[in-house]
Amino acid sequence: WREAELAALQQSVVTESAASLALPLIAVCGRPNVGKSTLFNRLTGSRRSIVGDEPGITRDRIYGEIEWQNVKARLVDTGGVVPDDEALIPSEIFRQAQVALQEADAIVMVVDGRTELASPDMELARLLMKGGKPTFLAVNKMDSESMYAAAENFRRLGFKNVLPISAEHGSGIGDLLDEVFAVLPEPAEGLEIEEEPEFEPFDEEIEAAEGEEPVRVRTQRTHGEYESRETKVAIIGRPNVGKSTLLNALTETDRAIVSPIAGTTRDAVDEIVEKKGHIFRFVDTAGIRKKGKTKMMAEKLSVIMARKHLEAADVSLLVIDAQEGVTNIDANIGGYAHESGRSVIIVINKWDLVTTARTDGKPAADQKAYAQQVRDALKYLDYAPLLFISAGPETGGPKAIEQVFAKVELVARERRKRVSTGMMNKFLDKVDFQRASVPMNKRVKIYYMTQAQVAPPTFVLFTDRDIKMHFSFERFLANQIREAFGFIGSPIWFKIRARN
Ligand code: GDP
Ligand code: GDP
Repeated sequence: WREAELAALQQSVVTESAASLALPLIAVCGRPNVGKSTLFNRLTGSRRSIVGDEPGITRDRIYGEIEWQNVKARLVDTGGVVPDDEALIPSEIFRQAQVALQEADAIVMVVDGRTELASPDMELARLLMKGGKPTFLAVNKMDSESMYAAAENFRRLGFKNVLPISAEHGSGIGDLLDEVFAVLPEPAEGLEIEEEPEFEPFDEEIEAAEGEEPVRVRTQRTHGEYESRETKVAIIGRPNVGKSTLLNALTETDRAIVSPIAGTTRDAVDEIVEKKGHIFRFVDTAGIRKKGKTKMMAEKLSVIMARKHLEAADVSLLVIDAQEGVTNIDANIGGYAHESGRSVIIVINKWDLVTTARTDGKPAADQKAYAQQVRDALKYLDYAPLLFISAGPETGGPKAIEQVFAKVELVARERRKRVSTGMMNKFLDKVDFQRASVPMNKRVKIYYMTQAQVAPPTFVLFTDRDIKMHFSFERFLANQIREAFGFIGSPIWFKIRARN
């Protein structure tokens, strides 16, 4: 990746919602300078595509929404990323047509009515007509009715529907839209992507050890019931790793408000810390402090509490005891965090115990080597930042705690990031899929992709076949996305939608 490319890619803007993806799609194509962008802008009322005669202009496929007589559709300008000198080569025309034919429900080909028919026009027309989708020819730059007769010359291209328009002045546009919308299908059902990932409610009882009361844990509330302008943080981990110590350190800084939430049981208490205008809600702090009486009981409880806390969180702090390293139970809890779609920060706590004179006689730990061990033990959490801290009041400083807040803020922001479809496809063009180590028969061809959802970032891939993505392929693509766009701390989810 070159710096400039990355910078351009990272200007991610909010564009399409899942709802808009279900709309029928109209593609606009034509060779450069015929007025596609001008038309696109007039139809969508937006200024997203670049209009002008600047030489060497490169453009992306650009999407927008359009509404006509109360019916909505999506519009794509298939302009493509085209250096001017390559714009006229047949392969580019072919690519444009492919995009239009694969994705669109109707196609509007634009020609410049003031110029002679050029061979790329004929090439494109031929390809579009072969595709068999409803196609309309808009003869542009017919700025006055006296010019309409000239439009008739373009019938030679073979289109049944030929409409003179002036994208600049707006004439003829209504007639064009009437015809195009008449052939559009009803908005597609499907692409049902929930606002937040589904969480299986549960109700579990942990067996009691001798002389103990059994403990029952069940889910109490759904994610959506919380205020959304705050970051909900779950502190999860095995018994004695330092969760309550960390919680104390976090809530003793600045302003902490203990707030029981209406409608929840009395022992579900959240604590809120406000910091530089950012609100952090530590969920169910009573639960974090709750201790089982026997070791076994406490361990089972810690796993179930983790699941419960994850349900209510955006970001989780997976606390590991530095002296003990990652255990099976840690990995188990980490697995729940990963699957929940919540963002994860791995907190190696009690770092003081392994770096200074160790009580267990082992040599002082090297942070880099230690980090590698944690990564190996928690492979699936490769996106989670690692923090080394000492939360204890004697050992940890305010600096360590500031570090935690800063990371939580960062991953909370990253998880809600949205990359525009235009940027995404620019990105897709650059991915070298040859490098993915995936068997040929397990590969899918991705025509285009779009980020349908944030928190966690969820990408819909429009592919040639409807097969489950191979694990390595998914990982490869996720890594490429991270390299370009970050999404620090958040899992990346994919959905496949086959086009045929
Ligand atoms: P694109 O490369 O196909 O997207 O074309 P543009 O939208 O960038 O337009 C190319 C040039 O044609 C620009 O200078 C526009 O101002 C001009 N243009 C576009 N539509 C019309 C029109 O309806 N009438 C006239 N006279 N000029 C137009
Ligand atoms: P929890 O069960 O996960 O909530 O763990 P606690 O917060 O109760 O901590 C368990 C024990 O570890 C307590 O004795 C703490 O004082 C101790 N502890 C927690 N954090 C640190 C730390 O950073 N360094 C050291 N040396 N001890 C710690």
